[in-house]
Amino acid sequence: MTSDADCLFCKIVAGSIPSDRLHDDDLVIAIRDIAPRAPTHILLMPRRHIASAAELTDADGPMLGRLFSVAADLARSAGIADGGYRLVSNVGLWGGQTVDHLHVHLMGGRPFDWPPG
Ligand code: 5GP
Ligand code: ZN
Repeated sequence: MTSDADCLFCKIVAGSIPSDRLHDDDLVIAIRDIAPRAPTHILLMPRRHIASAAELTDADGPMLGRLFSVAADLARSAGIADGGYRLVSNVGLWGGQTVDHLHVHLMGGRPFDWPPG
């Protein structure tokens, strides 16, 4: 499935729901999180609907490579690369996933605890 009619992030990818878009290419987009939990809080996601990291296959390698390299570029642009930052993808109910379209949180600008709560 390339797009899911009921999926919030598919609507954001398509532009039918507005977002503050920081990056857009043929494989991934990056947007500012609407409810930031850190001074920098960006969401990176594939254009194609993939429900979560649990659905990924070898064929998604190029998309994932792009997503993580864009994350590193955005971290440098945001000035958080030197201090370090957090990349996280929540999976399912106990993982804390609330939007069922794969996304990676890029969070920085403050220190983070480990393990997360
Ligand atoms: P999850 O809880 O699935 O790991 O992450 C979902 C994230 O999407 C949350 O951090 C939440 O603030 C963000 N979010 C939910 N709805 C919207 C929206 O309409 N626009 C944007 N930019 N972010 C959203
Ligand atoms: Zn989707």
